[in-house]
Amino acid sequence: MKTYQVDENGYYGEFGGAYIPEILYHCVEDLKSTYLQVLESESFRKEFDTLLRDYVGRPSPLYFAKRLSEKYGAKIYLKREDLNHTGAHKINNTIGQILLARQMGKTRIIAETGAGQHGVATATVCALMNMECVVYMGKTDVERQMPNVKKMEMLGATVIPVLSGNMTLKDATNEAIRDWCCNPSDTYYIIGSTVGPHPYPDMVARLQSVISEEIKKQLLEKEGREHPDYLIACVGGGSNAAGTIYHFVDDERVKIVLAEAGGKGIHSGMSAATIQLGKTGILHGARTLIMQSEDGQIEEPYSVSAGLDYPGIGPLHANLHAANRAVILAIDDDEALNAAFELTRLEGIIPAIESAHALGALEKMKFKPEDVVVLTVSGRGDKDMDTYINYKNNK
Ligand SMILES: *Cc1c(COP(=O)(O)O)cnc(C)c1O
Repeated sequence: MKTYQVDENGYYGEFGGAYIPEILYHCVEDLKSTYLQVLESESFRKEFDTLLRDYVGRPSPLYFAKRLSEKYGAKIYLKREDLNHTGAHKINNTIGQILLARQMGKTRIIAETGAGQHGVATATVCALMNMECVVYMGKTDVERQMPNVKKMEMLGATVIPVLSGNMTLKDATNEAIRDWCCNPSDTYYIIGSTVGPHPYPDMVARLQSVISEEIKKQLLEKEGREHPDYLIACVGGGSNAAGTIYHFVDDERVKIVLAEAGGKGIHSGMSAATIQLGKTGILHGARTLIMQSEDGQIEEPYSVSAGLDYPGIGPLHANLHAANRAVILAIDDDEALNAAFELTRLEGIIPAIESAHALGALEKMKFKPEDVVVLTVSGRGDKDMDTYINYKNNK
């Protein structure tokens, strides 16, 4: 049977793999030979499920958005990841990975972060599990995202500002990889999205797959069938989208729509539409689509949303695009901002600016009235209030 899941060598079609320095070979091999066994074990499942329920607050509701549905002429359900502890889907992944790290006998956790959401989710589970936590963050991002830096520090993490390159997410990731190379025996690297060398993309997708597992049950209850006609999610590295589609990806009845950040327009030179603008290359251990110049230099992505401006994309998503399994839409800053205000006024939900990109896709689609649409609201908008206030004031 044709499948869009990872193959035994860690590839999704031509994308994926593990392109790593020699010194990390044992770490990655160790992880590769351990992760499935742990994730599928009875004791892991039990502890993971209990924490997701009692600590994160799962299952997250599947909310029928009546007024949004009327506006777009379909039955639109919102998967409310914004209601999770720490305000987004990222905690699903960090809880899973810290349980794995503990099982593997690791005592020190490192992570990279851009907007700071993954850093906060990692610092949170490190506090919970009493583990040392070091978060690498570009200096530019440290200055832009001070509240998240303060949260990480309050949670007990050490935040290290990274001064190389453009001092943003790509550079923080390089620095985290460098740290891992120096401390391979006691350190576990919690990657925040479906990126990096195999097995990370598959592991993160599995940990986030609780989202689609719940959608199936919730749709059966509300619509009498497990599958929707459409799934819509935003993509930065791809983890909330991967979780949303995981159990539906091989079911061709379900149409998949991925919203990437168009920035000021995909041909403006200020964009983060990696899938549409990217060319195949190797970034942070995986072969995938990357925003790069003619001679292979990484091009700095731009988006109003700090959580979507990664110059690469998960190999799963690169392959969904190459195989025409997903529709990819670029949503510009303005379209996302308008969609955020629209959801707020129609449903009383202030979404994260990342999630607003998924909402911005609705405008660009044609539905039948009986279509069942599930759109993942990956996070809440508290962290984006300055962006929203500035936008309103300048209009
Ligand atoms: C980090 C983040 C994203 C983007 O990351 P993915 O791995 O693509 O999901 C989207 N939404 C929110 C709220 C985030 O914090």
